[in-house]
Amino acid sequence: MLPLTPTTLNGDDDTMIARNLASIRARIAQALAGAGRAAGDVTLVAVSKTNDAAAVAAAMAAGQTVFGENRVQEAAEKFPRTGATLHIIGGLQSNKVRAALGLADCIETLDRPSLADAIDKAGAATGRVPDLLVQVNIGDEPQKSGVGLGQADGFIRAMRARFGARLVGLMCIPPAFGDSGPYFRRLAAMADTHGLAVRSMGMSGDFEAAILAGATHIRVGSAIFGQRRSSDVT
Ligand SMILES: *Cc1c(COP(=O)(O)O)cnc(C)c1O
Repeated sequence: MLPLTPTTLNGDDDTMIARNLASIRARIAQALAGAGRAAGDVTLVAVSKTNDAAAVAAAMAAGQTVFGENRVQEAAEKFPRTGATLHIIGGLQSNKVRAALGLADCIETLDRPSLADAIDKAGAATGRVPDLLVQVNIGDEPQKSGVGLGQADGFIRAMRARFGARLVGLMCIPPAFGDSGPYFRRLAAMADTHGLAVRSMGMSGDFEAAILAGATHIRVGSAIFGQRRSSDVT
């Protein structure tokens, strides 16, 4: 039987989250050192999707401040929280953009012109546009979101022209199986080409390879909060 995500936390779960965070932080430090990069060069985005507000509170008590959620509705139930920064990391429907702008400090999944239109419009109405990352479908997989490799350069340029400094970087989810390293290096090279500082790449299973390839943000869920019921990564 798969372990289930608890709906409420007991002391043991709090301890587990704190212990997992300490272990991830140590592994990040080691990977940075191994890559010859400065300590603190990577931001850990704790992916709290499917975990409840108590789990977020436990992570915050253990010093975690940056969180990732993939559904706006679910995020709204846990955020905003004082002292927390929220990244939207899941595919975003245009009709959820206004709500997303009210919650998020960063939207990592800008991947089509119609979403850019919705962000522009909601940003004008709310007076606030968060940091934006273009999601690149780095393995050109038909089932995955993200702008395809053939369109990526043109789309990134268009988003740069449209959002200026609000466009801060790129995000990718490489193919689920095999070595992620080549995909991470490709995303980093693409970010370099466009002069974009942020590279959000690497999850529980491959964040060290991402750090080696130049990730500035890693998105780690299950290694902090425990296994989810379904994988839910697109
Ligand atoms: C769920 C998710 C993650 C975290 O995955 P883990 O393997 O649990 O670390 C990272 N990025 C995205 C886009 C996700 O949807």
